[in-house]
Amino acid sequence: MSAPHVLVVNAGSSSLKYSLVDATSGETPGHGLVERIGESESTLVHGGPDGETRIEGAVADHEAAFRMALETFRGHGPDLSSYDVVAVGHRVVHGGEHFSQPVVITDEVIDAVTELIPLAPLHNPANLSGIAGARALFPDLPQVAIFDTAFHQTLPPHAYTYAVPAAWVGEHGIRRYGFHGTSFSFVSRVAAELLDKPLEQVNLIVAHLGNGASISAILGGESVETSMGMTPLEGLVMGTRSGDVDPALHAHLHRELGWSLDEIDRLLNRESGLKGLAGENDFREVLRLRDEGDDAAALAFGVYCHRLRKYVGSYYAVLGEVDAIVFTGGVGENAAPVRAAALSGLSRLGITVDDARNEERLAEPHAISPTDSPVAVLVVPTNEEWEIARQSVAALP
Ligand code: AMP
Repeated sequence: MSAPHVLVVNAGSSSLKYSLVDATSGETPGHGLVERIGESESTLVHGGPDGETRIEGAVADHEAAFRMALETFRGHGPDLSSYDVVAVGHRVVHGGEHFSQPVVITDEVIDAVTELIPLAPLHNPANLSGIAGARALFPDLPQVAIFDTAFHQTLPPHAYTYAVPAAWVGEHGIRRYGFHGTSFSFVSRVAAELLDKPLEQVNLIVAHLGNGASISAILGGESVETSMGMTPLEGLVMGTRSGDVDPALHAHLHRELGWSLDEIDRLLNRESGLKGLAGENDFREVLRLRDEGDDAAALAFGVYCHRLRKYVGSYYAVLGEVDAIVFTGGVGENAAPVRAAALSGLSRLGITVDDARNEERLAEPHAISPTDSPVAVLVVPTNEEWEIARQSVAALP
């Protein structure tokens, strides 16, 4: 038998992403994605020892998607029975105030995640459906929930409290929770290793810049501030999400234009951000258009980097002393112009980006600041699947 492996699951409303992950090394012998669940033309793309396999067919629900994935493991490998699979690890978006750690899933956990649906109406039901499917197909394996919000349960009250009527927190859970916790947790640990300091002694500003984006201030290894709030809409500019806007915007659009709150919510979540400004949510396209002289793309880039810079500055003040600023996620790991623009002219704060190092493309975690810089600037590729596998094993009794 090999080292402990975890079947890592990320269930979306119409999708199921799965990976078989070696919890010790992070190696992934098999993985796949089922899309368009609930439609007549669902697809599964599976990666294994045979390379990539694509299967089409009708997949009614998450349980059927797991069945299809299992058949594909059987038909195309890797052979699950040759691995020591110790758990199924589920990404769950919202754990509210209830969960500050990964937990082995019981009926009580399911009830608690169900109660949190009002805080994550799109995500938690999909996650629950994935859990139900996995429980049906893997009845003998422990199922573990890893919450996006859990890492930020260390936020102090003055950071997580909105200045709204005090009763709203207790009665309705209106507070900031933060997301991307699995990524922040993974990246912080790798950054501490790179800095050669114990995690408990490092202060970091970590920017997770993917399709969704958020930034976190990490004090002694623990999250003390983060830019996403009660929902994943607040904070940085994202692919299709606005990030921060005037909180009176909803009321204004509703009153002046008669738009419904649901429509405004959709527009701010799906039609805003880079897509709203430049017509493209893919950062590579924004960079390409900007290089071609497109004014809208140049403005989108400017708004994106300015917002990021504002957060870096404010989190510097929150922490007081910063060991490193860390970039991760598809944009953070790859877009050198973003890193340069967000941190230019900050040498008085001890922050310098070395242009040559910044342009270098490396798959490994690395520094892009000069060697003797007071504040290191790091690029650390995230690996949320590996973190979920690791945390799943750690949660087992
Ligand atoms: P993620 O959600 O972490 O997978 O990140 C997705 C985002 O990363 C998309 O906006 C991509 O355009 C962006 N991205 C991926 N590769 C690059 C690249 N080479 N340069 C700029 N952005 C990139």
